[in-house]
Amino acid sequence: MSKKIVIALDGFSSCGKSTTARHVAAVLHYAFVDSGAMYRAVALYFHRNDISLLDLNQVANALKEIEITFVFNPAKQSSDTYLNGENVENEIRMMFISDMVSQVSALPIVRHAMVALQQKMGEKKGIVMDGRDIGTVVFPKAELKIFMTAEPHIRAQRRKLELLQKGEDLPLEEIVENLRKRDEIDSNRSEGPLKRAVDAIDLDTSFRSMDEQVEFVLEHVRRVQGEIK
Ligand code: C5P
Repeated sequence: MSKKIVIALDGFSSCGKSTTARHVAAVLHYAFVDSGAMYRAVALYFHRNDISLLDLNQVANALKEIEITFVFNPAKQSSDTYLNGENVENEIRMMFISDMVSQVSALPIVRHAMVALQQKMGEKKGIVMDGRDIGTVVFPKAELKIFMTAEPHIRAQRRKLELLQKGEDLPLEEIVENLRKRDEIDSNRSEGPLKRAVDAIDLDTSFRSMDEQVEFVLEHVRRVQGEIK
């Protein structure tokens, strides 16, 4: 049997990271963790409980009250995100969360808590995790790191379709602006900024189908596994 590895998929918003990661994990029978969903769940808790991002004591106390879990949903053949036992998968994908999540995830105290959880999830390897700092901070020793990009208008179109399927019909300009702003905040924060790891492999998804993206990653998995002694 091939040795289990850690696969880190990082990149800009709406490049298809999570979908690619989910498919790769399914083929390899690995765990899949959408780290963005964790930050989104924290943002939802803060929103519901009126937590001020300026009051770090309040933020610290709130973090102690948050439990995030992933539960496999057989109907969808993918995992749903749970916040303190409640399925929040649909709510965390909505625009009001996308509009606030980057401010929440920029707080070092929030990042420390999430990174610790993510590292625990990857202890036994055999995991595909997507996010912004997975190859740089969470798993700097990941055997395979992929950095995904795509042209901004293609990312916005994909996101629009995704939101539409979930019942949110938003103007394309609003989506373009959200992606631009999130990428800017995510790239410029002091802690765990969105950054290509020096040893990452680039994957531009602009003109690739999902099958091609998945195959690209799997080819590199096979190469890496072949190199492991
Ligand atoms: O991946 P997704 O777009 O759902 O992530 C939502 C937000 O969560 C990002 O815009 C970013 O602010 C934050 N995030 C992060 N670090 C990660 C994953 C996501 O800061 N590893």
